Amino acid sequence: MFNALRRKADLYRFLYLHRRKAALIEKWQGEQLRILMAHAMYNVPLYKELYLAARVHFSDLQTLSDIRKLPLTHKDLFLGRPAEEITRGDRRIPRKWKKSSGSTGKPRAALMSSAFESNFYANFACFRFLLGTVITPRAFRDIRIAHINLQSAPRKGHLFTTITEFLADPDGVLQKITAHRPQVIASFPSVLLEVAKRLGENPNLLPEKPRYASSFGEMLTPSTRHEIEEKLGCEVFDRYGATEIGAAASECRQHNGMHIHSESAIVEILNEKNETVPSGVRGKVVVTDLLNYNMPFIRYEIGDYGRLSYERCPCGQETPRLWLEGRFTANLVFGEKVINHIEFEGVFDDLVNAVLQYRVIKVADDELHAELIPGPAYRSIVEQKIIRRVQKLIGPNVRIRVAVVHALPRTLRGKSQIINDHSLAV
Ligand SMILES: [Zn+2]
Repeated sequence: MFNALRRKADLYRFLYLHRRKAALIEKWQGEQLRILMAHAMYNVPLYKELYLAARVHFSDLQTLSDIRKLPLTHKDLFLGRPAEEITRGDRRIPRKWKKSSGSTGKPRAALMSSAFESNFYANFACFRFLLGTVITPRAFRDIRIAHINLQSAPRKGHLFTTITEFLADPDGVLQKITAHRPQVIASFPSVLLEVAKRLGENPNLLPEKPRYASSFGEMLTPSTRHEIEEKLGCEVFDRYGATEIGAAASECRQHNGMHIHSESAIVEILNEKNETVPSGVRGKVVVTDLLNYNMPFIRYEIGDYGRLSYERCPCGQETPRLWLEGRFTANLVFGEKVINHIEFEGVFDDLVNAVLQYRVIKVADDELHAELIPGPAYRSIVEQKIIRRVQKLIGPNVRIRVAVVHALPRTLRGKSQIINDHSLAV
């Protein structure tokens, strides 16, 4: 779709949309949604089926709020179906499938929007915090970014290192990054934390610090942000995205919530009955990708919890802001209690400087272990505090042990995992 924005006026309307008034943004989104739905109901069998069953037609979409007439979608609807049922049938498309990190436990694959084939668009989606007041297609001409990511995706001005390479030889990778002289270092919070740790031990590994760090892919906790900012001497901009939808929201200079990328995404927050919740209330995150015509994701339950605020941000933008509050599936069950990882994060979040990273492991129905990497302010009293708080969460009948460790294991694809259930292992 991005490449189809041939007319200059359309392109500028697109690029500046996130800086327009809320009413104008909604009108634009309503129109784009209608076009996308029409495409999906005629060209993608899955949607044809869904919309026929729900008796909805694209002409039912008059305004953006009519989005509620459309049925929700989720990954189980896509899993197990042949590609031709879930992708467009009106045009041959390059089959560039992107595998997800499988953090919900089910490996997925998605066909990305063609927009991401444009270097400019990919930079615009991921690094818009670098933009000044004027946006031109030349905005990212001199960009230098160092990525440490799951896979490498060569682009002009970008240096890619895989997490595996970084973990095998962190100092060697930091030397390569030094030579690239990036303005931005981009990676998962847990990897940026590793970088911070290496620099804490030897600041000369990266003599010229990047101005910004860009984090994505995992929850960024306040203590991790603090540590990265301190050791890297740079400002951290967090962003939200997923394999299926790409980047969908990012922080502005206020660092208070992530602004929805209104030109490419509609984000809704719904309660358990699938009703829209009021501004500021926590619920399921549902995303519509306005750009992906290859494999449309319309009202897609992404598997995260979050809340949205429609209050105008002090930065001047009127796009809603998103705060992410955990994944559906990242929880531990003790008896009748289901504890979401966000609740465990609540235990550790004000222990900035005392705990750098942690994970909790359900060892048995009556035993939980917490492993943590201590920060400079760690004292044994912190351990007692953690035990008391966790005990309050999971009840008095579970034994809790806290262990100080120097490294935490990663999943096969390199992400850190804070919730682990070993009680089911044989
Ligand atoms: Zn803002």
